[in-house]
Amino acid sequence: MSWTVNVSNAIKNNAPKVRKILDEHPYIIDAAKDLRNKKLDVIENIEKYIEQVKINVEASNGHFHFAKTKNDALSIVDSIIKNKNRIVLSKSNVLYEISLREHLSNRDIWETDLGEYLVQIGNDMPSHLVAPAIHLSKDDVAGLLNKNLSNDINKSTSTEEMVRYVREFLMKKYINADVGITGANAVAADTGSIILVENEGNIRMDTVMPRIHIAITGVDKIVPRLSDAFEEAMVQAAYAGFYPPTYINVTSGPSSTGDIELKKVTPATGPAEFHLILLDNGRLDAAKDDLMRESLLCIRCGRCYFSCPAYRLYGKEFGNPPYTGPTGIMWSAITMNDYSKSQLCMHSAGCREVCPMGIDIPKVIEKIKFLDLS
Ligand code: SF4
Repeated sequence: MSWTVNVSNAIKNNAPKVRKILDEHPYIIDAAKDLRNKKLDVIENIEKYIEQVKINVEASNGHFHFAKTKNDALSIVDSIIKNKNRIVLSKSNVLYEISLREHLSNRDIWETDLGEYLVQIGNDMPSHLVAPAIHLSKDDVAGLLNKNLSNDINKSTSTEEMVRYVREFLMKKYINADVGITGANAVAADTGSIILVENEGNIRMDTVMPRIHIAITGVDKIVPRLSDAFEEAMVQAAYAGFYPPTYINVTSGPSSTGDIELKKVTPATGPAEFHLILLDNGRLDAAKDDLMRESLLCIRCGRCYFSCPAYRLYGKEFGNPPYTGPTGIMWSAITMNDYSKSQLCMHSAGCREVCPMGIDIPKVIEKIKFLDLS
């Protein structure tokens, strides 16, 4: 099946779903407006909020790290995991941004989100922020699983059966993993907690089964309070077309118990170590620019992709994976200094119409086009 057919099917599935969610839960629209204001406050006072995150991660017995560059982030990961070999990953664009999987490719390392697992075994790159394997048809998936997982899988295998095969494979990886590495949908400055929203249940496993949990995310994910972090999870899930989300995970430091005389003791059943790595990689410079700072408001819902004629035409060539689509043009500029793909933008402005954060994406892309030519 061609790219055009795959993406058309995704649009047909996504657009009515989001419309229905917003009609049935109109408070989400107000929550999105509120979230925009909270995130703008963080961007304007970013240094203060980074310091607050550090204080509160350490107050909950976690380890805080700040990485100026991709290589800094990789060095920090190396210093934490040392010679540990078995690693499970949760879907995260920042992990692609720093090329973490390639960096750790000599270890037993597995993506645990189904779409990302397919991208990994196909030696491919994600084509969408929320649905990384959107470019693959069911027959493509059957072929990949037949080659990499079981000869019993073929084109007549049901989707449910394929999911079962992958689940059984990954379950062995969770149980034996030494380290779980995730991103974060939001980081609460007032508690040092991270929030992760998901439907598959793999993130829950990645964050509690291994003895070490490392969360790597950008400074743009900071919000003032834990309640704002929940708000971001709700808004992201709704505009991605999955509301209510099946799971919202909160992590505030390593596992602990207060069951004996209410004395808090750590670790308990889950991880003994929690590390948060906050990555700059161009974000702090963007925060100083009146227009580029708008990009930092993005909550990665992926909705702008489906109203973009350039994405429909070029797929993941419109941007630099994992940062593709309208938001990916902005994020390729911020994190990779790559302005060139902006020239493919047709300025239909559909992205601006649907963005829950009210980002004037065409205006930002216009500036990036100018930077490319100057
Ligand atoms: S730019 Fe807006 S619509 Fe696009 S992924 Fe980000 S928040 Fe969603």
